[in-house]
Amino acid sequence: MDQIAYVNGSFVPMSEAKVSILDRGFLFADGIYEVAAVLDGKLVDNASHLARLERSVGEIALGLPETIDRIQEIQKELIARNNLANGMVYLEVTRGADTGRDFAFPKNDVKPTLILFTTVKDIVGAPSAKTGIGVITVPDIRWTRRDIKSVALLAQVLAKQAAAEAGAGEAWMIEDGKVTEGGSSSAFILTQDDVLVTRQNGSEILPGCTRKAVVALAEERQLRVEERAFSIEEALAAKEAFITSATLFVQAVVTIDGKPVANGKPGPMTGRLREIYVDFARATAV
Ligand code: PLP
Repeated sequence: MDQIAYVNGSFVPMSEAKVSILDRGFLFADGIYEVAAVLDGKLVDNASHLARLERSVGEIALGLPETIDRIQEIQKELIARNNLANGMVYLEVTRGADTGRDFAFPKNDVKPTLILFTTVKDIVGAPSAKTGIGVITVPDIRWTRRDIKSVALLAQVLAKQAAAEAGAGEAWMIEDGKVTEGGSSSAFILTQDDVLVTRQNGSEILPGCTRKAVVALAEERQLRVEERAFSIEEALAAKEAFITSATLFVQAVVTIDGKPVANGKPGPMTGRLREIYVDFARATAV
């Protein structure tokens, strides 16, 4: 059966889900996106994703075409229509198709484009959770407002393609000798003295929803957390390394540019934080 997508007010089969070639998302990457995980048919940490959506659109002076409550209803209806048990809901809002290829915003009322679709993925049972993944390092060539979840992802496309070609699962982007974040994930290490380190939020990184939840869950369990930048040398000397994202949860990193982190196996704290996050996800999903 064809998947069902949402396009500007209608639920339609994926094969009929289309937007204009003049859409500013297509022409200028003038748009924002969000991805929320689905576990047992429910949305994980969705309030956090919707809060970030509101912030992102605010930062680019774009109004949402629906209220946040209505957007969550649309997400839920899409999950139901697609019978989705485990996977994710993708959402994108752009500044519409009303300007031709005029860089300036539409003069009159903006009619934003809002689209959503779902993807099936067994996040909890993903094999990479057991094996860990390798990461490669690439220079961070992105713009300087990475805190906005913009659909302008070309730098990440190239970074993650380079990772795939190298047989790695993610690219860690490096700026001024320090890791900013993964191509589509937040980066963490556990130091030899059991301090969890992840870069502080700011315009250099996307404020990851999973990162935020993992930091809070770790602190609640008296784990020391330092929000600061770290280098690859520090990561290679660490006890453990991992990444977080909505569609991976907590994922061990076992090599960096082919060099092992500790013994090259997923670390116990990473495994524990993954379990804690899965419990949190199940307990709070809506
Ligand atoms: N950093 C970047 C650049 C991302 O693209 C993502 C997710 O796509 C993340 C971090 C992780 O964010 P979240 O945990 O909200 O999925």
